[in-house]
This record gives sequence, C-alpha cells and structure tokens, in this order.
Amino acid sequence: MRCSSLLRPTALVLLGTLAGAGAASAKTCELKIDGTDAMQYSTKELVVAKDCTDVTVTLKHTGKLPKASMGHNWILAAEADVQPLLGVAMGAGLAADYTPKDDKRVIAHTKLVGGGEETSTTFKMADLKAGTKYKYFCSFPGHAGLMTGVLTVK
Ligand code: ZN
Repeated sequence: MRCSSLLRPTALVLLGTLAGAGAASAKTCELKIDGTDAMQYSTKELVVAKDCTDVTVTLKHTGKLPKASMGHNWILAAEADVQPLLGVAMGAGLAADYTPKDDKRVIAHTKLVGGGEETSTTFKMADLKAGTKYKYFCSFPGHAGLMTGVLTVK
C-alpha cells in the first residue's frame, strides 16, 4: 500500500513533463520588418529563437510609392543561392512579383507590396539546415544591394 501511494505522485510529475514538451513542440514565432521609400529594410538582421518550429515574417511597406516603382518583398534563401536567384527574379518580372516560380532555393517569400501595404509569409524551421548562412533580400531589380540582411538562429 505504501509503495503505490509513493508511485502515484511520480507518475503525475512524468505526465506533466510530457504535456509540457508537447506544448513546446509547435511554436510559431513572429518577426516584423519594414521596407521604405528610401529602398531600405528597417533591420539588417532578424533573429529567430532556436525553439521556434514555424516563423511568420511580416513585411510592411511604410512608404507611399507604388509597387511598380518601389515595390518590396522579402525572400529567404541560403547565402550562396542569393545571387543566382536575383537573376531568375529579374526574368520573372513585375507580374510575377520578381519571384522565381517553384524554385526550391527559395525557402520563403512574401508577395511584392507597394507603399502602405503589408504582407506576410510563414516557413518551417525544419527547412533550415544547421551550418548554412541564410539571407533575406528584396528581389525588385536593383534593390538587393541595399535591401538585404541575415537571418540568425539563436
Ligand atoms: Zn524593394
């Protein structure tokens, strides 16, 4: 009798731990970044916590210019893929938001927005490989030189 009364609290503690782990297994983290009429992102680095499972990035165009002349998007790719993707993006054209279509090198992308608009995209942390440097950029022609940054996982 004495044994079973000791066992019960232990079992409850174990169940509690498992439930806690289950809740932590899905965690969507939110990141925000602005784009301006001066062809700039508001930050050159976005930091994601290691325990996030999904990441939602919201891009807000805080300017006034239309997307045909000062459009911004947010594309995430491995650093080595950025330059080749910019070439593909240019070819895709404005109608395709300067976004490579069905290109596996694109990990995540928002649509292209103009002044006052906001857009977001969600990707899975499982799509990122350890040891790879990831960068984000705007693929509007001529923007990526200034509009780029690093996604850091900490
Ligand atoms: Zn842009």
